Amino acid sequence: MSRFFSEKLFSLEPYTPGEQPRDMVYIKLNTNESPYSPSPKALAVIEGEASKLNLYSDPTARFLHEAIADHYGVTADRVIATNGSDEALAFAFDAFASGKSLAFPDVTYGFYPVFANLFGIPYTTVPLDDTFTIRVEDYANIDSTVVIANPNAQTGTYLPLSKIEELVAQNRDRVVIVDEAYIDFGGETAIPLTDRYDNLLVVQTFSKSRNLAGARIGFAVGCADLIADLNRVKYSFNPYNVNRISMAAAVEAMKDEAYFAECTKKVVETRGYTAAALAKLGFTYPASMANFILAHTDKIDGKELYQKLKSKGVLVRHLSDARIADSIRITIGTREQMETLIRKIQEILEDLT
Ligand SMILES: *Cc1c(COP(=O)(O)O)cnc(C)c1O
Repeated sequence: MSRFFSEKLFSLEPYTPGEQPRDMVYIKLNTNESPYSPSPKALAVIEGEASKLNLYSDPTARFLHEAIADHYGVTADRVIATNGSDEALAFAFDAFASGKSLAFPDVTYGFYPVFANLFGIPYTTVPLDDTFTIRVEDYANIDSTVVIANPNAQTGTYLPLSKIEELVAQNRDRVVIVDEAYIDFGGETAIPLTDRYDNLLVVQTFSKSRNLAGARIGFAVGCADLIADLNRVKYSFNPYNVNRISMAAAVEAMKDEAYFAECTKKVVETRGYTAAALAKLGFTYPASMANFILAHTDKIDGKELYQKLKSKGVLVRHLSDARIADSIRITIGTREQMETLIRKIQEILEDLT
């Protein structure tokens, strides 16, 4: 830290992304990316767009907003595209919680406390129940802005739409941000509720289910007033927040419903295979509606299993949060990758005895 670093940010603890090592080729099951390449239709427009990189991207993101709006049956003024959904979350935290406070689950996406600290927003955490599920009743008396991930990050646990509506309806004077990074792997989006609730903001990403993590595209949907607020923040920070190439690719990816359906279906099927194979090896896990499984066994500690898998060329994520430190989080890759993972785990468990 230099002697010039802001005192206000002195105690900031930045987010630690999953490792992207370059020392060898790993089977990469640690950052919940898609194992499948982007839509061929998205790839097809990249070169043409690249030749126009001397020009700024469209600050109104018109075509992308329209593609997203058409897909979800809302008007384009209720959509804002962002540089990854992390940016949508940052804009929303700043717009709807700065000068107030936040509440979110004790085990969830690690970026929530980081953004809260960056913006100087005090926050409280609400414990998940014993099955790692959000208990909506626990939020009834909270006046803070609420942010949850559904399915929840790290645990994969899922709340049905009726529970999300209960959470939003509990207190119409507080904004509820629902981070749906993993909604396309079997869940039901809360976007239709934004027609009726002006205190609900839904955030999604192209990084997981739309195979574009490296393009950095996210978006938020809400009532027109909430989105106008987010635009006030965007135009005060970075009007050209989505770059030209990513924007063009994202429009095509959103329109390519068939490819999206094919990829998400494969992930859901492979999740079923992986869950069953892990159970056979004696693992337990919360039921996952996401593209990962948080798996635990009494036979070996989470950190040790992570290290042994890494030495065998398979990267999974070990998180140090107290409640899940005994587990590993495994991204669902291709069927072949998961068969290799299961084989390596089997070897590791056999070596223990
Ligand atoms: C991956 C993830 C994000 C961030 O996604 P980007 O769009 O790549 O920034 C946000 N929230 C949750 C819960 C995630 O898992």
